[in-house]
Amino acid sequence: MIGFEYSRAGNVADAVRQMAVSPGAKFVAGGTNLVDLMKMDVERPVKLIDVTKLPLDKVEETAEGGLRIGALVRNSDVAYHPLVERRYPMLSSALLAGASQQLRNMASAGGNLLQRTRCAYFYDITTPCNKREPGSGCSAIDGLNRMNAILGTSDACIAVHPSDMCVALAVLEAKVRVTGPSGEREIPLADFHRLPGDTPQRDTNLEPNELITAVELPPRGFAANYTYLKIRDRLSYAFALVSVAVGLELDGGNIREARFALGGVAHKPWRNAQAETALRGQAAGDAAFRQAADIVLREAKGFGHNTFKIDLARRAIVRALSQAARGTPQTQSIKKIA
Ligand SMILES: Cc1cc2nc3c(=O)[nH]c(=O)nc-3n(C[C@H](O)[C@H](O)[C@H](O)COP(=O)(O)OP(=O)(O)OC[C@H]3O[C@@H](n4cnc5c(N)ncnc54)[C@H](O)[C@@H]3O)c2cc1C
Ligand code: SF4
Repeated sequence: MIGFEYSRAGNVADAVRQMAVSPGAKFVAGGTNLVDLMKMDVERPVKLIDVTKLPLDKVEETAEGGLRIGALVRNSDVAYHPLVERRYPMLSSALLAGASQQLRNMASAGGNLLQRTRCAYFYDITTPCNKREPGSGCSAIDGLNRMNAILGTSDACIAVHPSDMCVALAVLEAKVRVTGPSGEREIPLADFHRLPGDTPQRDTNLEPNELITAVELPPRGFAANYTYLKIRDRLSYAFALVSVAVGLELDGGNIREARFALGGVAHKPWRNAQAETALRGQAAGDAAFRQAADIVLREAKGFGHNTFKIDLARRAIVRALSQAARGTPQTQSIKKIA
């Protein structure tokens, strides 16, 4: 048992102040990832600063016509919020495809953004892992890498970001609101998570002493033509092998606006501007969808056990775009369990 201190933050300023004077401390929200990592000796915070009593638990409309989701809103409450279901159903679908009902009832929006990779070697402290112990090596590159990345990898790390929610947030072009010792700032979702490069120990561009306060969604929700398609080994309690979030706007049978992002394939939700541009103005059909998939995957690289993901991703992109164009999203809302 490794000892640590515990304290509860009274307000946002107090949380930031406590973090500034406690190097090596961590915020804790639902604890569904951090506590597991502590039990497995992967994370060793000297102090836990409990943020669950902060007033960041609301979903509110913004003046611009979008939504602000407080960092402490539970994943279930986001997924079943009437405004999210109606205006951003892709986000509801992505959240409901993740974890289990019990976990979604505990997990917070802020914690979901910061959950760490599920690479098996990251959790196994007996093996080298550059993300856990910089400079020690990467056991996955020549190891059991079935769940690992095929895009944006580096010689130092081939881990994937495991979140479903973040894949939908990438398509919605959400912004992450954060507060730190030098005040507030906003990080576009596209710049929030990092590629591993030679610093795989850093998952995001959040500074260690910054608190996430909210996620903001712009007005555009793609509520008519969207999908979140998640391919996984089991129907629940399984992380994505490949997932695809799609938002389309159609003009008759033609594509006016197209956005899509992949999960389970890279260290961050993966978008490709060229593939999206190639879809705009095209007839919504297999030819355009296959071309877009080819553009995304021409830089993909497999590492043996995970090479199947390249073909899986190609077929998943075509299927997800087809579903979105037909207005038949894959994951329908499941009735709320009280
Ligand atoms: C068995 C299992 C299956 C799962 N399956 C899926 C899945 O299929 N898809 C999926 O997307 N997720 C899945 N998850 C992950 C789950 O979604 C995350 O564990 C959860 O979202 C984390 O939220 P939390 O509030 O519990 O975070 P915590 O565990 O409390 O914190 C996680 C990290 O975020 C930091 N943090 C938390 N809040 C803030 C804040 N406001 N500001 C700054 N830092 C903060 C903490 O310091 C910590 O580093 C699964 C988890 C488990 C245990
Ligand atoms: S892929 Fe990344 S997380 Fe996995 S063993 Fe290699 S360095 Fe560690």
